[in-house]
Amino acid sequence: MKVDKITLLPASIPYIDDPMPEWVEQWGIQLFINVNVEDKEGLGEVLVAGSGVISAYIGIFNDLIIPFLEGKEIRSISEVYETLEKLLFSAGLCSITLGSISGIETALWHVYSKVINKPVHYLLGGKIRDTVPVYASFPRYKTLEDVVSAVEKAIKRGFKLIKLHQPPNMVIESLKKIKDTFGDQIKVAVDLNSPFDYASALKFLEEISRYDIEWVEEPIYPPNDYDTIKRLTKDFPIACGENEYTLHGFKKLLETGVLYIQPDIAKIGGISKFLKVIDLAEVYNIKIMPHLRPQRSAIALYHTLQVASARNNIIQVEFPLAEIPKDLFGVEFKIFNGMVNVPDDISIDKELLKNKYSLKDKKLRLLKFSDLTEKIL
Ligand SMILES: [Mg+2]
Repeated sequence: MKVDKITLLPASIPYIDDPMPEWVEQWGIQLFINVNVEDKEGLGEVLVAGSGVISAYIGIFNDLIIPFLEGKEIRSISEVYETLEKLLFSAGLCSITLGSISGIETALWHVYSKVINKPVHYLLGGKIRDTVPVYASFPRYKTLEDVVSAVEKAIKRGFKLIKLHQPPNMVIESLKKIKDTFGDQIKVAVDLNSPFDYASALKFLEEISRYDIEWVEEPIYPPNDYDTIKRLTKDFPIACGENEYTLHGFKKLLETGVLYIQPDIAKIGGISKFLKVIDLAEVYNIKIMPHLRPQRSAIALYHTLQVASARNNIIQVEFPLAEIPKDLFGVEFKIFNGMVNVPDDISIDKELLKNKYSLKDKKLRLLKFSDLTEKIL
């Protein structure tokens, strides 16, 4: 197929919910990719990481991906992926390079599925399930009362499992409050976003282990410190992988004995790479819990669900607690009994995006994860 046009759709879709979380500004930034092949359109998404440095991703498109692919006849999406990775590797195999590839790669799968008039999962061998297990990934809340309201909302929406993003100093009281208020009605996981060294992680994990946590995510900084992660996995249920980019890195992570790995389709290079990671994890008998930033990442969610509907070693997909804007994406994600429907297609209303959600500002969007203290910022 010949790639006619690639269009970047930077967006700012706010996370509006009740209760209102923190990080609203920091998470209100998206980069969608539109690819045209004749009269068909495909959509992909780049997860804009690193405190919203969107110009870095746009630069890779403008300097390399668009001039390289526009007007080109392509014979294989995997070949495009591998070529782009080799053209970019000396800039580092990381979120900015591989995330940009994710955007174009997922858009190519989508447009190709339109060309043959089948859903993306058809290209993966077909659906083995119509619904996929999901958990509610909470944003960070200011108060304990907000955490409780959010849990109530999650239960009402049909979730069976939630994941907290509270700072370490609020985790224990949140777990206690949730247990006291909701008993066994909801399961809980804890995402720490890499705050600790080994000694602090050990102390923290020992303190929270009485709360029957499903998993504890990224306790160690840096997140790729495999030796230190390995020292924790024997005694605690650890999950990692949202900051992993290469197959070699995933292999090392799998060898630490983590309970789950968490690749992100909008960060690691798209569907071709995601499939390789899934196969690699199967060799280690470790399940996949795909990462998605819990904001308006509907295109990445669509692609993740396409793969999850076709591969059964994906056991849960991260999902936002707030509703995804239906008017913008033309699709409704419905939660029932901890499961979500797998839509066959997705779109973006470009007029609405331009009028209501366009990215106009150049705000500083510092994403203060739990290891950063106010004295630095
Ligand atoms: Mg996480």
